[in-house]
Amino acid sequence: MRLRNIPRSQEVIDKSKYVVHDEKMAKGLWKKEIFGNTNPVHIEVGMGKGRFITELAKANPDINYVGIERYTSVLLRAVEKLEDEETAGGEVLKNLFFLCIDARELPEIFGEGEVDKIYLNFSDPWPKDRHARRRLTSREFLGRYDKILAKEGTVEFKTDNRGLFDFSLAEVEPAGWHLMASTFDLHHDEEMVKGNVMTEYEEKFSAMGNPICKMIIARGE
Ligand code: SAM
Repeated sequence: MRLRNIPRSQEVIDKSKYVVHDEKMAKGLWKKEIFGNTNPVHIEVGMGKGRFITELAKANPDINYVGIERYTSVLLRAVEKLEDEETAGGEVLKNLFFLCIDARELPEIFGEGEVDKIYLNFSDPWPKDRHARRRLTSREFLGRYDKILAKEGTVEFKTDNRGLFDFSLAEVEPAGWHLMASTFDLHHDEEMVKGNVMTEYEEKFSAMGNPICKMIIARGE
């Protein structure tokens, strides 16, 4: 994603009620203190402008959502969109918060078993071999997810990048996970496409004719 430095990003994010600022204090307290309920917690790592997670939060008020994005200039778009909608009389979402952090910090922010589902959508491919550990589906990242996911928790990953998808499939077993479902063409897979919510990148790349790959994985054999 090309980034422009938007000086007011930090200021808007600092003031927004949708952003959790003292995120390390929230560890172990997401349901009880942050959301104030016992509903499941689903997170999206690398949410970009946030359309996917915002749409899910509107459609599923009984699920708690946390959108994670490391760049303020990108998170700004998600925050401003929600706040603009609210100003125009839209609903105030009580089941959605954002975090401006690097996903490497996840185990410092969520306690053991505190997250029920992790979404990864169109994650950066990091094509150079020496950067493989930075891919959000690498075994290093799967190890981080392992620390925060509930026992029956799952990771759902979508991408149009076949190289990244093949790499991700190959990481599953060595990392101690198993494949629950996968497709190389989500939009033509009758079963897996049910309930699919498109992301910004998904819309753009599928409009260009790129097939979308998806996998769902869980821990253990
Ligand atoms: N998920 C969105 C979509 O499908 O439209 C955005 C995809 S965009 C290619 C990937 C996003 O992930 C970027 O906004 C990037 O800043 C963010 N990202 C990449 N690595 C990250 C990390 N380690 N921690 C948090 N965000 C990350």
